[in-house]
Amino acid sequence: MLMIKVDLITSMRCDKCRRPAVLFQRYSGLHLCREHFFADFEAKAKRTIRENRWVSRGDTIAVAFSGGKDSGALLFFLHSLLSRRKDVSLVAITVDEGIPGYRDPSRAGARARELDIPHMTVSFREAYGITVDEIVERKGGALSCTYCGVLRRHLLNAAARDAGATKLAFGFNLDDEAQTVLMNVLRGDTARLLRGTHPVPGMVPRIKPFLSIPEREVALYSFLRCGTVDTGRCPYSQNAMRAEVRQMLNAYAWNHPSARFALVNLGRELAELGAGRTGELHVCSRCGEPCGTTCRSCGILDEVSHGA
Ligand SMILES: [Zn+2]
Ligand SMILES: [Zn+2]
Repeated sequence: MLMIKVDLITSMRCDKCRRPAVLFQRYSGLHLCREHFFADFEAKAKRTIRENRWVSRGDTIAVAFSGGKDSGALLFFLHSLLSRRKDVSLVAITVDEGIPGYRDPSRAGARARELDIPHMTVSFREAYGITVDEIVERKGGALSCTYCGVLRRHLLNAAARDAGATKLAFGFNLDDEAQTVLMNVLRGDTARLLRGTHPVPGMVPRIKPFLSIPEREVALYSFLRCGTVDTGRCPYSQNAMRAEVRQMLNAYAWNHPSARFALVNLGRELAELGAGRTGELHVCSRCGEPCGTTCRSCGILDEVSHGA
């Protein structure tokens, strides 16, 4: 948020209209006022959707909606883009991981109602009989983000499919995506880097409209459009490898503003190279969800329930 405050009080002028600027884009060299920032932001998100053919006639788009700044901005953007279309509908899904004080599903619900978007909440407690707090209690914090991430994606997919959704939208931004690619590189995870985006039965295809937009611009958009500020990270997230990679990449990208774009392009090109290599598809005999050779969600649930 510090960066945004600095931008808002700057006396710089918009390079397009000379009104006061709210943002300086290091990678384009442009100062932008509020209106030109909105126009630039929304044009980029629309272009990403168009280039990937992510929205088509008849779609029901489930939005993974935590109520935080990224998913708040996404819900607002998709609503303003699609609410006048009769052939596309939206539904918001909130996952309650069971981390008191971090997520409040009722606030997310209220926000969705303001926009007149159907909302549903699914919880770790109900689906798995265990919360993230309890997982950390039993297994410590070192792997909590990995566990939580796998279980949350699994639950979102099931909920989206049950809601009849044909797409599942995430508020992931350029920084998130660049970090993911760099993490896979640092782990030497060839399989993940080459994993194409071919359709898998039972898996609702994922879309990420903010893929090409830096995190600080998503935060600024969320703040100016919806008044949402960052409600803080998950209390367990400092345990994750992502936090380290994020710090490293932020430091590097300060002097090399194109680094994140380069990483995301690398990720996309590798995924395209891997698109032909379809892996074996299975359906988990326990939970009925699509998975690889073994079901990671069920594996994690086995592990954490035996950790008492
Ligand atoms: Zn302007
Ligand atoms: Zn399973």
